[in-house]
Amino acid sequence: MSARPVTMEKITSLCKRRGFVFQSSEIYGGLASCWDYGPLGIELKRNITEAWWRDNIVAREDMVGLDSAILMHPKVWEASGHIAGFTDPLVDCKGCKQRFRADQIPGPKCPECGGELTEARQFNLMFRTFMGPVEDTASTVYLRPETAQGIFVNFQNVLNSSRLKIPFGIGQIGKSFRNEITPGNFLFRTREFEQMEMEFFVRPGDDAKWHEFWKQERFAWYRRYGIRPERLRLREHGADELAHYAKGCADVEYEFPFGWSELEGIANRGDFDLRRHSEMSGKDLSYFDEEARERFLPYVIEPSAGVGRPLLAFLVDAYDEDVAEGEERVVLRLDPRLAPIKAAVFPLLRKAGQPEKAQAIRDILKQHVAVTYDQAGSIGRRYRRQDEVGTPFGITVDHQTMQDDTVTVRDRDTMTQVRMPVDRLIDEIRARLASPAASRPAVAAGGA
Ligand code: ATP
Repeated sequence: MSARPVTMEKITSLCKRRGFVFQSSEIYGGLASCWDYGPLGIELKRNITEAWWRDNIVAREDMVGLDSAILMHPKVWEASGHIAGFTDPLVDCKGCKQRFRADQIPGPKCPECGGELTEARQFNLMFRTFMGPVEDTASTVYLRPETAQGIFVNFQNVLNSSRLKIPFGIGQIGKSFRNEITPGNFLFRTREFEQMEMEFFVRPGDDAKWHEFWKQERFAWYRRYGIRPERLRLREHGADELAHYAKGCADVEYEFPFGWSELEGIANRGDFDLRRHSEMSGKDLSYFDEEARERFLPYVIEPSAGVGRPLLAFLVDAYDEDVAEGEERVVLRLDPRLAPIKAAVFPLLRKAGQPEKAQAIRDILKQHVAVTYDQAGSIGRRYRRQDEVGTPFGITVDHQTMQDDTVTVRDRDTMTQVRMPVDRLIDEIRARLASPAASRPAVAAGGA
């Protein structure tokens, strides 16, 4: 374990160097706060969204999924309060002309140059565009600023087409857009981002119990995928922080190199959204409880996470530098389930049939999990390259393989090697992916 702290520079440089994340439109000088996921980044992102989907939708009796359109009827945003209220207070510096969110700067002066600031004015964060050929107010539509409203407006559709009974939830993963005044900190605050959201509908009166359940469940989820406990916390919102719709809210926060920041908010939205959409659309969105012979508007618990923020947290948290086999290395101690590549296959020598044998093993394993092949450079350097991107298993074909069809399997974290028959590899990898070892060492005192 090294005591050298992880910095954002180390993370962004690793991301670029190894193909996790690139700046959008880089050859044209880039587009501010927009990022592209490269070959390893997309694997990591998919593993995160698939873990969320599997754990929260597929594995639960009381959850279903949805994929609603990004463009929605403009009345949706009137009902939700986004047209009137989804604003941030914007101030300009009269000196250096920079813009800031008034609620994010410490004092009355410009944090950059100390200059005088303008009065705050409200700035709506929704991106606007036009539907069809005419660009007028009648054709104005918005890029959704959250996926949640797609769930609320489909509440009756889901109910009528399924046999679900309250309590139940609907989950969705998709792109959202916010014209943030001050984006930044790499993937943390971007103008285009992905969300993983759930709306869990409950009987009024049961809401406090379910809110508590989801706060604990969502906090535990990050722990289950290896986030260090000392860098994770659940923070209750003060009354002054609550959004207009919320009866209560808690954030799962992570201690990034730039400080404690929100990964996910878990809010009790009461019946705000269903009530507003009932009023605005004229459609009754209440629920009839057959057993109690009672009609009511359900309350909603909403665990709302981004994808970019958790992905950045998983990367920061997994990042480590230590000495391995006598050499300094960077190692991403990612949970094996999240690791972009599960195993790398190496021939020890570039002769004696070893490359062909290693490629044949890669081809078999590739049917099941993401696997790579590497024959360039010393075996130590090849291990280092995989450690740096978090590949949990290194499989080496050597002289003995050619005689008895066994290979060595090296563990990224412990660096121990065991020899096993080739035909046991896939079961072994699957078993280790199913029950990941608690491989992350505790943070050394004074370390990162
Ligand atoms: P913040 O206060 O940081 O702006 P928020 O409270 O407005 O965030 P929510 O509206 O609760 O955020 O959105 C739910 C989740 O969506 C957040 O926890 C975050 O993970 C993600 N998210 C929101 N805005 C952004 C953004 N601009 N870039 C990346 N992810 C975002």
